[in-house]
Amino acid sequence: MDIARIFENNETWVQQKIHVEPDYFSDLSKGQTPDILYIGCSDSRVSAEELMGVSPGEVFVLRNIANMVPNTDLSVMSVVNYAVLHLKVKHIVVCGHYYCGGVQAAMQSEDLGILNPWLRNIRDVYRMHREELNAIQDEEQRYKRLVELNVEEQCINVLKTAEVQQARRDRDITIHGWVFDVHSGKLIDLQIDFIKVLENIKEIYRLD
Ligand SMILES: [Zn+2]
Repeated sequence: MDIARIFENNETWVQQKIHVEPDYFSDLSKGQTPDILYIGCSDSRVSAEELMGVSPGEVFVLRNIANMVPNTDLSVMSVVNYAVLHLKVKHIVVCGHYYCGGVQAAMQSEDLGILNPWLRNIRDVYRMHREELNAIQDEEQRYKRLVELNVEEQCINVLKTAEVQQARRDRDITIHGWVFDVHSGKLIDLQIDFIKVLENIKEIYRLD
């Protein structure tokens, strides 16, 4: 990728947008009212807007290694806070993806320095679901299942926050767990039963 090309691409894009809608950028500058907060992986193959077919202004995006929602991470917690309290998003999506390098690294015992504390969050997911995961003989299938279970646990981390619990009491807000299959390009809804999940965790995490 030639960096100079990026600016040429940008110029072409600006011209295309203005050609179709002359006020496109002046309208964008007026503010944002996205309905969706998307939390995805930083992986270069997993874009946010492109795979959902949405335009600038429609989705508030956070990406980090392995789409994690650690409740002590200031960046993640600030994004959730701003999206829920100020942008008043109606949907929060945690989108993982198969063939995730972060999840794969967490399945190995190699010392990865500064990445260790981050990956430990994924190792915790493995520990919580060790029985189910260890019962899967095929390594690729086990790795894929950990990607799905990690999405589910990160959705639970979203539900643990006071902002989301308050918003769920006051208005309509839905949490979604998705996986992007890099091999087919398909987006898969994991259809996580959050009513059931909430029943299981509310005794411990409920914040009034
Ligand atoms: Zn990834």
